[in-house]
Amino acid sequence: MTITRFAPSPTGLLHVGNIRTALHNFLLAKAAGGRFLLRVDDTDAERSKEEYVEAIRKDLAWLGLAVDGEERQSQRLSHYEEAFERLKAAGRVYRCYETSQELELRRKVLLGRGLPPIYDRAALDLTEADHAAKEAAGIAPHWRFLIDRDEPIVWDDGIRGPQKFEGDRMSDPVIRRADGSWLYMLPSAVDDIAMGVTDVLRGEDHVSNTAVQLQMFTALGATPPRFAHEALLTGSEGKLSKRLGSIGVDTFREQGLEPMAIDSLLARIGTSQPIVAEPSMDSLAAGFDLATFGRAPARFDEAELLRLNAQIVHQMDYKQVAGLLPEAMDEAAWLAVRPNLEKASEAHEWWQVIAGDVPRPEMTDDDRAFIAEAAAAADKMTWDEAAWKTLTGALKESTGRKGKALFLPLRQALTGMDHGPDMNALLPLIGKDRAIARLRAAV
Ligand code: GLU
Repeated sequence: MTITRFAPSPTGLLHVGNIRTALHNFLLAKAAGGRFLLRVDDTDAERSKEEYVEAIRKDLAWLGLAVDGEERQSQRLSHYEEAFERLKAAGRVYRCYETSQELELRRKVLLGRGLPPIYDRAALDLTEADHAAKEAAGIAPHWRFLIDRDEPIVWDDGIRGPQKFEGDRMSDPVIRRADGSWLYMLPSAVDDIAMGVTDVLRGEDHVSNTAVQLQMFTALGATPPRFAHEALLTGSEGKLSKRLGSIGVDTFREQGLEPMAIDSLLARIGTSQPIVAEPSMDSLAAGFDLATFGRAPARFDEAELLRLNAQIVHQMDYKQVAGLLPEAMDEAAWLAVRPNLEKASEAHEWWQVIAGDVPRPEMTDDDRAFIAEAAAAADKMTWDEAAWKTLTGALKESTGRKGKALFLPLRQALTGMDHGPDMNALLPLIGKDRAIARLRAAV
């Protein structure tokens, strides 16, 4: 069974980049009939906030990413301790005391000599007496994971293909701070093992972490999951913009966008598949395939999002939107205005055009005379579903007007606007009394 996870740190709101990673993990699991888990990476007690945990849950639910389980790292500390003890017994972690200033200095020296700025493992030479002296002086160690440098680290990445890292080009990562707190690397591997994660899909900023974590899985006696790293997201201008980092589910919700529009876009950008509005998560999952993911950054284009949103709104049933519409707005009115909407919320404006007050249009004397004739015709004719045809047919006959000269002044007088939904559908909804009143007002 495929098991994926989304592992945000609750130190802020999800932005469009995290949302995309969450969505891809959800789809990867669902495409295989598997499970999608939420793992809250809240080991950083100071920066993690409960309000963000709640916001993350709410955002995932709104986007339709139902989770099949949730774990919190802050509640799993004993598991990290236990894994750490095992690594210690196996000689895969070691104590260090360098300060960040010392390390920075060494890095500079190495860089100055044109060497890779990796940790020199000086602490491995410390004797037990050295450690005892540190302890006596009240200096606690931080801990590094000892990378096995015997063989290159290789894996077949689900997106990037074969990957190879040479251990002697990598720094042994610090996995635990002197105060006993954990850095991201080990807890994540421990949790992936415990949660039975089969596929880790995350941003390409994690590629070098994967090289280390592969060794952790093995050191802990586990078979590593499959890994895939996706290219990062950029704005439509092709750059990583600050703005992108601040666009989140709140922004989308405030803009009145449909979750399926966001999902449809984020599922397919950066892939070779066409970007179309998918009606459901099932249909999105059915087409989801890591093999179609490219290595170039995925471009997030807000204009494209609006286009997809419009496509989705154009297919929405009255039942789906009834709760958001003005109370008196019925199914016929929804169906009449739907093709003109980019967002469902715009139905309110069109409802005003149907049932509210509309502005009196500016018109030439000629057009006003024509509208006066229209008012008289409207009064005399029979009103039914074909009212627009009847009215325009009669006026065409009596005035000789046709095309724009016939239709535009009528639309302006009846709706106060130059464009809008099909008048065939709109006029019966406006109704006889209101239509005649508007025509008279325009004269
Ligand atoms: N909390 C980590 C992050 O947000 C998780 C990375 C991972 O997926 O392993 O970067």
